[in-house]
Amino acid sequence: MREFDLIEKYFNWKNLESDILGVGDDCALISIDAHQQIATSVDTLIEDVHFPKNTSPKDIAYKALAVNLSDLAAMGATPKYFTLALTLPEFNEYWLQEFSGSLKSLSSQYNIALVGGDTTKGKLSITINATGVVSQNTAMLRSGAQVGDYIFVSNTLGDAALAWHQLQQGKEPSKGLLQQFNRPQPQVELGKVLVDIANSCIDISDGLEQDLSHILNSSNVGARINISDLPLSDELITYIENSYDWCLPLSGGDDYELCFTVSQENIKKVEALEKTLNIRLTAIGIVTKELGLERLGMFKDECSSYQHF
Ligand code: ADP
Ligand code: MG
Repeated sequence: MREFDLIEKYFNWKNLESDILGVGDDCALISIDAHQQIATSVDTLIEDVHFPKNTSPKDIAYKALAVNLSDLAAMGATPKYFTLALTLPEFNEYWLQEFSGSLKSLSSQYNIALVGGDTTKGKLSITINATGVVSQNTAMLRSGAQVGDYIFVSNTLGDAALAWHQLQQGKEPSKGLLQQFNRPQPQVELGKVLVDIANSCIDISDGLEQDLSHILNSSNVGARINISDLPLSDELITYIENSYDWCLPLSGGDDYELCFTVSQENIKKVEALEKTLNIRLTAIGIVTKELGLERLGMFKDECSSYQHF
């Protein structure tokens, strides 16, 4: 059984009050008063699954918090606090000092407070539950895409996947690729301004095709994307020129960029954001009435996205 079928069958109980948005989006939304909602998300990182064995404690801490901030960003929420459940194979003071220092530095950068957690002994695993707030009815949902919307992605795609690919082959990735893999920048500022501009949003953690498909399924629409429009770094362009393999930007995962849809009348606002936030925002396709994800371009291979099961 695939991961998402498992969640749907066993844990999407659909018994929530109508003022709670539960399983199925980047964060759950819980109303606290007439004006505000809590956005909350949890993610686990496990050694050898999410990061290689010799990853530095600084990078592990950074990524564990960054991936949660990325889910808050996808809803357009402002980060507030997080809890940390840590399973450690041993007590190692050096490791803890490095881990704690890096976690603290990222948390102060995004103004999110560590308020509790749990510590146990076992195989290295880090679980962070991050919580933010968002004004009532403004959060960007996966279910808001409209036919005719333009589909945008932030920055470039596939760099983290290329780093992982090279590591698997025993090669040393460039500094830039490793940065993308170990230290993805959560797009919190972008998410906060997109709430007034975008109809739907998701953060790309499992690869563009799979994550965009979550928007399409939730919104009951389809999409046409043009692979020649995908924003790529120079290193990824070189990789594709040599391998003809477009799967890294299409399904590689670990990008932690935002994929969002915008009505035609708001396109100018997105262009303005590129300047004010100094960020690359690229239109890669359009939302269609015909269901399914259609890919335009020469590359026809099926790419498999990462599935835990
Ligand atoms: P993301 O990639 O944005 O972190 P996931 O793919 O992990 O989201 O999860 C998809 C949806 O399923 C989310 O709404 C998440 O909260 C929910 N979910 C995942 N695992 C479980 C679980 N064991 N119990 C309840 N809900 C879950
Ligand atoms: Mg997400």
